Amino acid sequence: MEKRVRVDCRKHPSAQGCTIAISGTPDEVAELGWLHAKLQHAHKDDEEKGIKDWIRSNAEPARD
Ligand SMILES: [Zn+2]
Repeated sequence: MEKRVRVDCRKHPSAQGCTIAISGTPDEVAELGWLHAKLQHAHKDDEEKGIKDWIRSNAEPARD
C-alpha cells in the first residue's frame, strides 16, 4: 500500500482557526489540501504550485 501522509490545519494556525486534517497519499493530500486552501483560506489560483509544494514538504506520516 502506498504510504499515506497527513497535514493538520491546527498545526498551522490561521485566521479561520481551522481544525481540518487531511490524510491520504501525497498526491491526494496535495490536491485536496490545495482545494481546501483555496476555499477556506482565500488562496488564489496562481498560488497552486506553491501551495502544493508547501503541502508536500510539510506533510507528516499518517498514523491512521
Ligand atoms: Zn484549514
